[in-house]
Amino acid sequence: MLQQSRTMTINKGTNGQNPFQVVGDQIDACARILKLSDEVVAILKKPARELHVSIPVKMDDGTTKVFSGYRVHYNDALGITKGGIRFHPDETIDTVRALSAWMTWKCSLLDLPLGGAKGGIICDPKQMSQGELERLSRAYIRAVYSFIGPEKDVPAPDVYTNPQIMAWMMDEYSVIAGKPSPGVITGKPVAAGGSVGRGDATARGGMYCIREAANRLGIDLDGATVAIQGFGNAGYHAAVLCSALFNAKVVAVCDSRGGIYNEDGLDADKVSSYKKLTGSVSGYPDTQSINGDDLLELPVDILVPAAMENAITAKNAANIKAKIIAELANGPLTPEADDILFNNGIHVIPDFLCNAGGVTVSYFEMVQNNALYYWREEEVREKLDAKMTTAYRNVFETSQEYGINMRQAAYVQAITRIVEVMQIRGWV
Ligand code: GLU
Repeated sequence: MLQQSRTMTINKGTNGQNPFQVVGDQIDACARILKLSDEVVAILKKPARELHVSIPVKMDDGTTKVFSGYRVHYNDALGITKGGIRFHPDETIDTVRALSAWMTWKCSLLDLPLGGAKGGIICDPKQMSQGELERLSRAYIRAVYSFIGPEKDVPAPDVYTNPQIMAWMMDEYSVIAGKPSPGVITGKPVAAGGSVGRGDATARGGMYCIREAANRLGIDLDGATVAIQGFGNAGYHAAVLCSALFNAKVVAVCDSRGGIYNEDGLDADKVSSYKKLTGSVSGYPDTQSINGDDLLELPVDILVPAAMENAITAKNAANIKAKIIAELANGPLTPEADDILFNNGIHVIPDFLCNAGGVTVSYFEMVQNNALYYWREEEVREKLDAKMTTAYRNVFETSQEYGINMRQAAYVQAITRIVEVMQIRGWV
C-alpha cells in the first residue's frame, strides 16, 4: 500500500489528452482572471492526499487477480470530501485526480458544505460476474477503510458502478465499523438508506440547466432535437427526461459499442429494454446506425455528452452544430474545444455545473442518513431545482459580467468560495 504518491507521473486518459493536465490549464485560466497568488495556485493544483492500493480478488475460476485501486482527496477546505468511485479498464491515477478536482469545484459551485474526492479501480466490470464484482467492491472498502468515513470522505457511484455496488460497500464498511453506517456512501438503493430521486438526479439537474439556458437564449424546447452520447445512468435518464419534461425529441443515442439515429425520435425506455437484452443500443429496430463521432456533429438543438472525457477536442469542435451543449459527463471538452465553441457562439453548460445534480442529491442523502429522517420525492426535486437554478444563474451572470465562457465563469464562482475559506482557515 503506497500512501501519497510522490511522483506526479503523467498518464494519458481516454482519447489521448491527460485530464489532469486539462485541470491544470483550467486553473491557470481562472488564476489569470482572478489574479490568484502563486501560493493559492500551488494549493489548487495538487491533491491533498492520495491512497493507492493493490487489491487481490479470488476470481470464479479459482485464480487470484490483483487490481489497482485509488482514492484521492483533492481539497477539503469546504468540508467532508465527496465523490464517486469509477470501475473502468482505462482508469488512471491522473483521471482520478482530475475527477477529484472537478468534484471540489462542483461542491463549491453548488454551495454544498463539502470538499472533493474521487476513487477508481482499473477493471473491466463487463467481463466480471456479480460474485467477482461483489468481492472486488468489498475488498476495495477493506483496503481504503481508514481513508473514508461518514465524517471524513463519502464515496458514491460513477461510471460502471451502481446502487448494488454501493450497498455492498456500505455493508462491508458497517461490518468493519461494528455499527450500521449508511452515511458512509451515497447512491445506495432506496431500501438500504438511499434517497428517493438519486437515481435520475444527475440527468434531472442537467435538465434544469437546459431549461434555464433555453429561457435565456430564446430556444423553444417543445419539439427541440437532442443527441445523447452515452446511454448509462446519465444518458438514459436524460433521454427519458428530455421528452417527459420538455417534449423534446431525442433523435440519436450511442454507447461504447455503437449508436442509433431516427429523425422521428426514439423511445428511451424501449431502447433501454433492448440494451438490457443485447448489451448495446446498436441495432435497435427502425433506426439508422451512427457512430459516436458523427452523432456529436448532428445538426441538433441540444447535444448531451454523457460518456467519458475528451469527446470534443480541437479536432471536431469546429464541426459541432448544436446550439446548447449540456455536459452530463465529466470533462468531455478540452480547453481548445472550449475556445472554438465559445467563438462559434455555442452555449456550453460546463460539467461541474450541468452534472452537479448527482452530488447534490448525494448530499441530501447524507443529510437524511445522518438525521435518520427521509424526505418525499417532491421535496428532493424542489430542493434540487432550487440549487441548480441558483448555480446556473450565478454562472450565467458571471460569464456576462466578465465576458468569459460558462466554464471559466463556473471556475470563477467555485474557486472564489474555496479561496475565501482557505484564507479564513489560514492556509494562505
Ligand atoms: N460520480 C458523480 C459525479 O461525478 C456523483 C458523485 C457523488 O454523488 O458524490 O458527480
